[in-house]
Amino acid sequence: MSKEVDLKETWQLLMGARNLVLVSHVGPDGDTLGSTLGLARALKQAGKQVRLLVDDTLPAVYQFLPEMDTYEQPRAEQPIACDLVVVVDASSKDRMGEAEKCLSAPILNIDHHVSNTRYADYLLLDPHAAATGEIMYRLLTANGVPLDRELATDLYTAIVTDCGYFKYANTTPSCMRVAADLVALGVEPNEISDLLEIKARNSVELLAKVLPSLTFYADGKIATLEIPLELYDKNVSTESFIYHPRYIAGVDVAVLFKQVEPKATRVSMRSKQVDVSRVAVAFNGGGHPRAAGCTIGLPLAEAKKALIQALEKAMEAL
Ligand code: 5GP
Ligand code: MN
Repeated sequence: MSKEVDLKETWQLLMGARNLVLVSHVGPDGDTLGSTLGLARALKQAGKQVRLLVDDTLPAVYQFLPEMDTYEQPRAEQPIACDLVVVVDASSKDRMGEAEKCLSAPILNIDHHVSNTRYADYLLLDPHAAATGEIMYRLLTANGVPLDRELATDLYTAIVTDCGYFKYANTTPSCMRVAADLVALGVEPNEISDLLEIKARNSVELLAKVLPSLTFYADGKIATLEIPLELYDKNVSTESFIYHPRYIAGVDVAVLFKQVEPKATRVSMRSKQVDVSRVAVAFNGGGHPRAAGCTIGLPLAEAKKALIQALEKAMEAL
């Protein structure tokens, strides 16, 4: 069980440490990367020694974020000593990947997932925040940290990633106000959206092979796409594939299945009504009511069968 900390206590913890390791979650997205890079920038300005870890490849689309090249890949057999570990935007400990095994210092978790498992020693959690980037903005401004254009870009990227440019149900007046403040600091929304929405050619080519797998269940309320092991390539981005089944008339839940190993299938879910975070948690994953994910230790067809069954049950209960 974590000790919950507020914005002031969190800053005191951060300032009380000299060497900090910041960890972004596996399957890194704009929120975990932008929030981590923004915090790192503020901590370095405060004279702290900071190292950044992520146990995954970094999606090329985020390369424009300042200092992305400072991320290191953790190795279980290479322990890293520090005073405080800060885990950013990760609702459960396994989301640290190998970083879980090479760090032994106390953990501060900054997060916005309702499904947070309270694994850290200290927890700054706001499930109403649209993104961890929104919490990070509050943390820095509440403690008098000046934000430059680069830091504003980090946090703006974090926020727009998680609220889909203010389209999703997690968009609130407060998240829009924070974004407005960041734009006032020099962020160019059109430039960031162009940078984030650009697709690698191999990603669109893969999408063309995956779209024929589109299948409907539950009278058209569930739509699925599949990436079988033969098509899976960890270097090809599939982040945007889920938008295709998501925006079909009549669809409540969109699901992308991606077989990453013979017996491991990654699942991404987006919904309008069903609480998909509960379904994800039942498969040891997590997320938000309208966007969640998990990894099921089964081949694609079996994982799909189990998940569709769970979704149909969740729909019946509505
Ligand atoms: P995505 O479908 O984009 O991978 O993830 C959607 C949301 O669910 C994100 O907020 C992400 O952090 C969360 N999520 C996805 N997969 C997992 C998982 O395996 N475990 C946990 N705890 N959260 C996940
Ligand atoms: Mn997030």
